[in-house]
Parts: sequence; structure tokens; C-alpha cells
Amino acid sequence: MSYPPKCKSCGAKMEAEFVDIGIGMDQVTDWECPNNCGYLEWQYEQDMKIAKVKVSFDEWLKKGVSLNE
Ligand SMILES: [Zn+2]
Repeated sequence: MSYPPKCKSCGAKMEAEFVDIGIGMDQVTDWECPNNCGYLEWQYEQDMKIAKVKVSFDEWLKKGVSLNE
């Protein structure tokens, strides 16, 4: 497993908060994408509900959703 983990959407290194517990660092928050991909995934799901042509998440990021085809 790579460290830090990379975002499955954009490949950016994920970020989390750590505290020093004496014997090392303890992670105190979930990993988050610095590009807010959590929000993007949500938006993608909303678009796919109304899209006539389903596209992959990567395609959607590049072109957006098409409602006319
Ligand atoms: Zn991301």
C-alpha cells in the first residue's frame, strides 16, 4: 500500500491530520482529497441520474455530461 494514499478520482496525494502521540504520529481525520473529489463524486452521481448517455467519471471530468445525445 502506497503512503500517503492517492485519490482514486484524480490521483492527488490525500491529506489527513495527524497528532504526535509520543511513539509516533496518529491519524485523527479521514483521508481527504485536496481537490475536493468527494464533492465531485457527488456531482457526478447527480449528473448520471439525468444523463441519457452514461460516461465514466474520467470522461465526465473532461467533458461534462451530455443531455442531448
Ligand atoms: Zn481527488
